[in-house]
Amino acid sequence: MLLEIETTYAPATDIGYLLHKNPARLQTFDLSFGRAHVYYPVADAERCRVAVLLEVDPIGLVRNRRGPSGNRRSLDQYVNDRPYVASSFMSVALNALFSTAMNGRSKERPELVETPLPLRATLSVVPVRGGVDLLERLFAPLGYEVAATAHPLDEQFPEWGPGHYHTVTLAQTIPLRHLLRHLYVLIPVLDNDKHYWVGPDEVDKLLARGRDWLGDHPAREQIADRYLKYRRRLTRDALARLAGDDDPDPDATGAQRDHEEERIERPLRLNTQRMGAVLAALKASGARSVLDLGCGEGNLLRDLLGARQFTRIVGVDVSHRALERAAARLKLDRLPEKQRQRITLRQGALTYRDAGLAGFDAAAVVEVIEHLDPPRLPAFERALFAFARPGTVVLTTPNRAYNVRWDSLPGGALRHRDHRFEWTRAEFRGWAERTAGAFGYAVRFLPIGDDDPEVGPPTQMAIFERNDAEDAPR
Ligand code: SAH
Repeated sequence: MLLEIETTYAPATDIGYLLHKNPARLQTFDLSFGRAHVYYPVADAERCRVAVLLEVDPIGLVRNRRGPSGNRRSLDQYVNDRPYVASSFMSVALNALFSTAMNGRSKERPELVETPLPLRATLSVVPVRGGVDLLERLFAPLGYEVAATAHPLDEQFPEWGPGHYHTVTLAQTIPLRHLLRHLYVLIPVLDNDKHYWVGPDEVDKLLARGRDWLGDHPAREQIADRYLKYRRRLTRDALARLAGDDDPDPDATGAQRDHEEERIERPLRLNTQRMGAVLAALKASGARSVLDLGCGEGNLLRDLLGARQFTRIVGVDVSHRALERAAARLKLDRLPEKQRQRITLRQGALTYRDAGLAGFDAAAVVEVIEHLDPPRLPAFERALFAFARPGTVVLTTPNRAYNVRWDSLPGGALRHRDHRFEWTRAEFRGWAERTAGAFGYAVRFLPIGDDDPEVGPPTQMAIFERNDAEDAPR
C-alpha cells in the first residue's frame, strides 16, 4: 500500500523539514503490523514527492491477533486485502511517522507549518465502502478536489463491474499538517473497518486529529460512527466534545444543533415565553447594567436593547461565530451612536474569571448551564457568583422530566445534542440552593411554559438575589 504526497511549493524539498524526514534518504520503520518505508521518488526544488509504503505482514497479523475484526473464517484471516489497501494501518503509520508534523512543530521551518502549500495526495488503493459519493462527501467539504479511479473487481471478468477499490487523488492548497490529519481520520472511515478494538481512547484520538475541522463537517456523524465502529456512546461523546466547552473552535457545530432544539420546542413557542419571563425578571430587579452570559445569537440582547431601563448591556459567548451573527442580527454597525454605546459583545468562557464582567446589576444565563461539562460547574459557579457577583442572576435550563411530553423527542433523549445534562426540577433546585447558600444569595424558582401537573414546565428558571445587594440598584 502506497501513499504519496507531492508539492510544487518552491523550494519543494522544504516539506522534508515539515515531515522531519530527509528527502535524500530512505528510512524504514518497524511497526506492530509490519514495516513502513518513507522515501522521496522525486525531490528537487520545483517538485517533491514523499512516499509512504506499508508492508503489512498478514501472517504476523494472525499471530499477534491483530487481524481484521469480526468473526472471519480462518482462511480470511490469512487471505485478505489488508496488505494491499489503505486502511487503519496507514493511520497508525501516519501517526508513528509524522506525529510531530501533525502536531504542527518544525524546528527548521516553523513559518511553513501553517502555510497553505499546493499538495496532492495519492492513495494507490483504498477500499471506498460507500462509493465515489462518499469520497466527495468526505473530502469536498474540506476543500479538496477529488479524483478517483475505480478498479474492476476482476480484470479477467470486466462484466463483474467495479469493486470498491479505488485509486484516489486529493488536491488542495492547504497546510501539510491539515492534509495529514484529514488522511489520518478519513482513511479508516473510507475503509469502514479497523484492525483493532475501539475503546474510549479512540475518541481522544479522533478529537486530537479532528478537533479543528470535524466539528462543522456536514458528514461528522457518519465520520464519527465509522471511525468509532458504530459504538453509539463513543460517537455521542465525540460529537458532544467536538461541540463543547473545551473546544477551541466551539463555533463549528453550534448553529445546526440549535435549530434542532428549536424544532423540538417549536409547538410551544417556548423560546418566546422564555425570553419574556427572563426579561420580566430582569426588569423587576431594577437592574440598569446587565450581562447576557452565553448570549448566542442575541435573542435576549434584542429585547434588552428594546427596554430603555437597561443602559449598559454586555453579551458574552464562547462562540465567535454566534457573536458575529448576533452583531449582524442586531445590526450593530447601523445603530445610532447613542444606542450603540449601550451594548458590547465580548468573547469569553463562563468558566473563567473575567474582570470585565464584575460590577453589573444583573446577569442572565439562559439555556447555557446544560452546555457545561459537570466537572466545570464549580468553576462556573465561582466565576459568576464569587467573582462577577452581580446583584441578580436569572438562570434558565430545561426540565428533563418534561421531555416525555414532546412527541418529536425519542424517549430518554436530551433536547439538544450538545447538552451535557438536563436536570429534573429536584436536581435543579438542589444545585441552585446549594450554590446560593455557598455564595451568599437567596434563590427562588419560577416555571416557564405550560406547567404540566405531572412533570412540571418545559423550562425552569431560578432567580438569585445577592444577600448584600443594596435595595436601590447602582
Ligand atoms: N442564551 C441564548 C443561547 C443559548 S445556546 C439563547 O437562549 O438564545 C447556549 C450558548 O451558550 C451557545 O451560544 C454557546 O456558544 C454558549 N456557551 C456554551 N458553553 C459556554 C461557555 N463555557 N462559555 C460561554 N458560552 C458558552
